Amino acid sequence: MLMSSKLPGIGTSIFTVISALAQEHNAINLGQGFPDYPTSEHLMDLVNKYMRQGYNQYAPMPGVMRLRERIAEKIEGMYGINVDPDREITITSGASEALFSAIACLIRPGDEVIIFEPAYDLYRPAVEIFGGVVKTYELLAPDFQVNWNYLKRMMSSKTRLIIINNPHNPSGKVFKESDLLELEKFLDSSHDLFIVSDEAYEHLIFDGLEHQSVLRYPRLRERAFAAFSFGKTFHNTGWKIGYCIAPPALTKEFRKVHQFNVFSVNTPMQHAFAAFLEDPIEYLGLSTFFTHKRDLFLDIIEKSRFTPLACEGTYFQTCLYDRISDEKDIDLCRRLTTDLGVAAIPFSAFYTNGTNQNIIRFCFAKKDETLERAGELLLKA
Ligand code: PMP
Ligand code: GLN
Repeated sequence: MLMSSKLPGIGTSIFTVISALAQEHNAINLGQGFPDYPTSEHLMDLVNKYMRQGYNQYAPMPGVMRLRERIAEKIEGMYGINVDPDREITITSGASEALFSAIACLIRPGDEVIIFEPAYDLYRPAVEIFGGVVKTYELLAPDFQVNWNYLKRMMSSKTRLIIINNPHNPSGKVFKESDLLELEKFLDSSHDLFIVSDEAYEHLIFDGLEHQSVLRYPRLRERAFAAFSFGKTFHNTGWKIGYCIAPPALTKEFRKVHQFNVFSVNTPMQHAFAAFLEDPIEYLGLSTFFTHKRDLFLDIIEKSRFTPLACEGTYFQTCLYDRISDEKDIDLCRRLTTDLGVAAIPFSAFYTNGTNQNIIRFCFAKKDETLERAGELLLKA
């Protein structure tokens, strides 16, 4: 029997494809976004400690309370905002599950959802699987600037959700206060409009810029599900733990999905993160840590024929390659991986229409020596 697909256009993600190619050709993988250095020893010891102490059964459905309390303190310390750990924070299986469960509890067949492209690959299929209709706003290099008047023209009585991602993967662009204030205006005119704010790269922000979380804007916060990722923050993308923050009424709906999606999340790791978060240096030092890596990579690239675009946040550096070749970005990425030994992600993969702008994306969350070795190879391109 053949099964008719709910997602007929969806294949294997570009991250999986490029990582497999990199492995096959023994290439340095600057494609998929994950660190090649270890997560903190102390954090691993804490996980071990809590496992040995017997924290190995189901966690409470919304998450371990002491972790939710530490998250609330972190948010208060960073943004001066009070979040209720009991009614507004849910621990999720990565930012991915936070995004998916938020979309699941919001979207009904026929609802319209506005997505900015280039976009992280999860949003569109998650909307479509629940019968939502994606309206795409294409942002283009080099500045990926949103024209908020144009966005207004995309809105209709069916618009249920706008998804934003700040800092933005893959462009590295960061929304400023003025962007959030513009977004806030949309909530005045519509009573049935919500925001999903993907803030997985909350701490990876450079050059003195401040992260403009939706949580800082009262009118946005009232209507927003904000998704965060410990994997990005604490260099352990394989642990898949994150959280969703939303007002009590939205969290109530969110948890109805969350409890039947994953029910609850890895218990000893939640206790370990709770203990680890007691020292803010663990996340406050991230901007300096990644600024060094970005700048090291930029120094290397400067000597090559790649032209870097601005990277204000995330751990991705995008580069134009028009001085190297006029082939499609996917072809160049394959060739760099197989012939030169460095893997990168083609930027066109983040557009539904495959818009090609001769840009590829490198991940600089790597050991300095990895970046230096990759740099030597990239000089040959
Ligand atoms: N959003 C964006 C923009 C991402 O790049 C990623 C990839 N890490 C995620 C969400 C998913 O995060 P997690 O690994 O915590 O599920
Ligand atoms: N967020 C990662 C990236 O953009 C990939 C995560 C994944 O492979 N799903 O590279």
